[in-house]
Amino acid sequence: MNKFNEKKILVINTGGTIGMIHTERGNPMSPLKPAKDWSEITSNYPLLENFDTGYIQVKELIDSSDMNQKVWIEIAEIIEENYDAYTGFVVLHGTDTMAFTSSALSFMLKNLSKPVILTGSQVPLENPRSDALQNLVTAIQIAGHDLYDIPLVPEVCVFFRDNLLRGNRARKSDASNYFGFSSPNFSKLGIAGSDIQINKARIRKSSQEKFKVDYSMDGNVLIFDIFPGFNPQILRQIFTDHSIKGLILKTYGSGNAPTTEEFIKVIHDIIEQGVSVVNITQCPTGMVKMGLYEASTRLLDEGVISGTDLTLEAAITKLMSLIGRGLSHEEIKKNMLRSNCGEQSIGILSFELTSQKEEILDTIIELNISDVLDVEKIKNTRFRISNLKSNAPIELSITPVDTALSTSLIWEKKISRSNGCYDLITSFNHGSKDILNKGNMIYFRIKSTTVISWDKITFEIFLDEY
Ligand code: ASP
Repeated sequence: MNKFNEKKILVINTGGTIGMIHTERGNPMSPLKPAKDWSEITSNYPLLENFDTGYIQVKELIDSSDMNQKVWIEIAEIIEENYDAYTGFVVLHGTDTMAFTSSALSFMLKNLSKPVILTGSQVPLENPRSDALQNLVTAIQIAGHDLYDIPLVPEVCVFFRDNLLRGNRARKSDASNYFGFSSPNFSKLGIAGSDIQINKARIRKSSQEKFKVDYSMDGNVLIFDIFPGFNPQILRQIFTDHSIKGLILKTYGSGNAPTTEEFIKVIHDIIEQGVSVVNITQCPTGMVKMGLYEASTRLLDEGVISGTDLTLEAAITKLMSLIGRGLSHEEIKKNMLRSNCGEQSIGILSFELTSQKEEILDTIIELNISDVLDVEKIKNTRFRISNLKSNAPIELSITPVDTALSTSLIWEKKISRSNGCYDLITSFNHGSKDILNKGNMIYFRIKSTTVISWDKITFEIFLDEY
């Protein structure tokens, strides 16, 4: 593989419209083919030769519809081999799957301290009205930041039209418009008008650790969109193939799915067979909040993992990467619930405290919260008692032990279940930081005045993960 040692920005071409030329030069009606090298790409625009760029291309230039983990590995290898020699990297990519590649690379390239900017175009560079020139020049300038007096963005990003987006938050949202990419759940990292403005508060810190690549990616995963009237048995049929290890379930609204026994049993059996199931929303914006309605509480019971506000592209590539690392289901769950490199806004730490009892409850619950590294990131916390049942009216109290906060917490939400049981939820938004600041171990006393039965008591900590 070629190395360029003296240039500032390495342009890595993978194919797509941006690197295509017309078979008959100057005839926009002739079919497109990949340009053979950088000089052919830039032949209409000699100014592009003025940039301090090296150029390398993957073994086979492709329409990005043919993108796969082999090419992701090839891109990552090129970056790894050339990491020390360049200030930043620009990846030319077809627009169709660019958000998948930018998400995958964000999980593969660990400890980044240099920019990796993916860009493409809706129209080839040769066309006079093409968006390619502006996309390419701005991507090169952001990658070569110090040459152009632009703040360092040490992240995998997508640059398109005016927008610099975090790679694992970006989505192709328009098939033809020049503003083809958006970042529905996260604000832009920068805007390029006549000036290139970087939103410094949104940029991740440059890593002090040594850059490395995690090449693990397992393609034995699946995406399934639910819709009213679908037949759960088709899903069951698909999962008779035991090589599938992960499923992204695209559900309604804040994570809701049918509550029928037939569907729940299919999900139950899929999970029992060792598949990690992650719930993301079909809505273009917003996030999954499992356990708000019975329609998602059933999924929670079965062990479906909340995908919070992950994009489809980030959710599937994150799952591919975690499964590729050979992690256990519990480890996959733990990792899916936390942000790895800014891909989700909320992190969840979940503790299962007690399960399946019937008694007058009076217990001290002990929680080891040493995993919460930064108490300032805590957004809120909640207890959930699921599938609660009692013959008499229930009076329950939950009190932090040995803290300044001596008042009992209030049960603030009751979710009825079709089996006659219900879930009780309490959160303590204001006191939580004080309580969790106590150190690694915290204690709560949960008391009932009557005999109750329940399935599970869980405690969840929600973290701000920007
Ligand atoms: N089909 C092309 C690709 O993704 C479209 C583009 O480049 O915009 O490679």
